[in-house]
Amino acid sequence: MQDALQDLIGDISGGVSFSRASAMLVTRVTNILNCDICSLFVVDNKTKNLQLVANEGFRDIDPNSIVVPADTGVVGMVAKRKEPINLTNINQHPDVYFLEGQSENAFPSFLGVPILYQRRILGVLVAQDEYHEFTEDDEGFLTSLATSFAHDLSHAIATNEITLGAVPPKRREEQHFKGYAGSPGIASGIAVVRHPHAQLEDVTYRVIEPNDVDHELAEFNEALNLVVQDLNQGRERMQSVLGAEELALFDAYLHMLDDDALPHEVRTTVLNECVGAQTAVSNVFSRHIRELERSESSYLAERGQDLRDLGQRILAAMQRQDRSDNDIPPNSILVAHEVSASMLSEVPSENLIGVVSAEGSMNSHVTILARALNLPAVIGAEDLPLLDIDNLPLIVDGYYGEIVVNPSAATTSHFEELVDVEESFQAELDEIRDLPSVTMDGVRINVWVNIGLVSEISRSLDLGAEGIGLFRTEVPFANRNRFPTEEEQRRIYREHMEAFDPRPVTMRTLDIGGDKDLPYFKIEEENPFLGWRGIRVTLDHPDIFLGQVRAMFKANADLEGILRIMLPMVSNIEEIEIAKRYIDQAYREVIEEGVNAKQPQIGVMIEVPSLIFQRQQVMRLVDFLAIGTNDLTQYMLAASRTNPQVAELYREFDPSMVHALRMLAKTAHEARKPIGICGELAGTVEGAVMCIGMGYDVLSMNATNIPRVKWVIRNITMTNCRRIVARALRMHSAREIFNFIREQLHGAGLDKALPPHEPPAIFF
Ligand code: PEP
Ligand code: MG
Repeated sequence: MQDALQDLIGDISGGVSFSRASAMLVTRVTNILNCDICSLFVVDNKTKNLQLVANEGFRDIDPNSIVVPADTGVVGMVAKRKEPINLTNINQHPDVYFLEGQSENAFPSFLGVPILYQRRILGVLVAQDEYHEFTEDDEGFLTSLATSFAHDLSHAIATNEITLGAVPPKRREEQHFKGYAGSPGIASGIAVVRHPHAQLEDVTYRVIEPNDVDHELAEFNEALNLVVQDLNQGRERMQSVLGAEELALFDAYLHMLDDDALPHEVRTTVLNECVGAQTAVSNVFSRHIRELERSESSYLAERGQDLRDLGQRILAAMQRQDRSDNDIPPNSILVAHEVSASMLSEVPSENLIGVVSAEGSMNSHVTILARALNLPAVIGAEDLPLLDIDNLPLIVDGYYGEIVVNPSAATTSHFEELVDVEESFQAELDEIRDLPSVTMDGVRINVWVNIGLVSEISRSLDLGAEGIGLFRTEVPFANRNRFPTEEEQRRIYREHMEAFDPRPVTMRTLDIGGDKDLPYFKIEEENPFLGWRGIRVTLDHPDIFLGQVRAMFKANADLEGILRIMLPMVSNIEEIEIAKRYIDQAYREVIEEGVNAKQPQIGVMIEVPSLIFQRQQVMRLVDFLAIGTNDLTQYMLAASRTNPQVAELYREFDPSMVHALRMLAKTAHEARKPIGICGELAGTVEGAVMCIGMGYDVLSMNATNIPRVKWVIRNITMTNCRRIVARALRMHSAREIFNFIREQLHGAGLDKALPPHEPPAIFF
């Protein structure tokens, strides 16, 4: 039964439509359980009915007519209790519900299991038989199936793939969807949905007459020129906002379309084989993609994806599928299944006000770019019905990751008011840009930036960054097709250090693994967040570690600013000792080479809870501590930072976190060494106030949040922050702590700095 279960789960989640999946599900269940009937009921939240959406086995009853009030019958009881019910004879149950015209259930043996998703009841899966009872094994089977199917069902309900109720939802109705808050801000505009380009595999093989060859070649050349022109324009548009490193992405693309490369092969194929240009593009590109994908090297396999993208762009141009800039109205919100860097670059920036990507995570390219471009963005909005929303009015709430499709007049004016409030507050923030971050009672707090893209340097400085608290060195590593050389690294690091000099710059050694992949150095693991990550990788590869550290020393030579080297994902003391020995070796090597290097400060990120309990020993070995709350939260609470299923449990204000942060700060103070926070928590107003109260010296955050946090620092007293922490330490839940800090901020008249509205109702 186990194998049958796995096969069935594989088949229904293998990309088939929902109606096909549900039909397959009920038919196969009757075979596997050897029973007469299987039914899938779905809860209709509007009418509060349980509606039958798929059935195998009913003969005399029209399945479409079956709608059961949700609080009625045994099926209703399964939904209400959220637990399985297994009955030998349903006819004897006091709550049995007979359909109209029925006085007895002809299939009395009954097994019903709830379909639950994120604690919500979505439906009930029922098996019935005339004679045989259902066993515990059957119950286990149906429960496992319901659990696996829940995600697909939730998606189908959200995207209206199932029509529930007598009246199907109207297109013009206001609808709310949820994703991650990728980049802060609110945008109210028009959805511009981009779909994947024409598929290479869909081109039909077309033979042409020899005298059509010229025409086909002309079509191909025109399409190729258009694609090259588009890529060049995209590159130019991005030039002002991206650095040389990121622009290299576009150059790599353009090289593949050099005239003597693939285009030459396409032309030869048209000429020699007398086939249409689209056929030739499909054949030539597909052949190369297959070769690349067969390769063992993950880097080459990735390039196969690039080739596919290019081939499909050329096809789309030949099929006139591309939209011109005229299709991008002012106030456009770019929406796609997976927004890519090149898609972003295709949209004229003056018309683009927001981004929505159904796929993606907090560290994905699109998120980083949206922040760098200062565009509100919601990422990972899996349930958004992309096919239905092109050209519809849309609101993107980048503070809470909410999307409103077809907002009502009242909703639109509510959000537009919020945008106005934001803009006027923005003017106030601009005024304090160059003023120091000092509390009203005179305590200086360092507000630094988390950075990774060269393009963010000037923006960070403009927004008032007083240093770099976290340079994510993996970002420049990820933007190329091989490891950067020591000299390439030196140049990138130098650009940052020179721009910030004499401000301090904190260089984190390479932090890959987990959800951060390099295209040319794939780490495939079953449990990547608990695997080969951060310092574990670089200590196993001293070549990478030493090269990086040498590049850091060289980049810092002759500058006034202090070099701070920071070690990620440390979980024991030994790792610190070994890393320090390597840093010392690199220092001696560069000195021997005649580099005017200075001794660095060495710090450790506290991201793994084990270090909290060895904090005194850690403190003795290092010059500073920086708390990576993004990872510390997930390891402390065993709730992945990237899994929406447990997002509710990922609580940065959990009492365990608050106590840990307080303990770490105390240890640093006793040792008279600096301590900072460089997780996302530092960039939230609530988190910043709490950390200031605990005595953190450095708050390091993404550039966008700097002005707001600085404003709060300048308008609050340390005494008040300490009082807030003292109360928070006595509380029992993350929500209690968070709400309390919010109340205090309101009370102190600082609510302007909070996101301009309360979290939307769909979040609770
Ligand atoms: C953290 O974990 O808090 C952190 C700053 O590192 P990253 O988000 O890059 O993992
Ligand atoms: Mg981390």
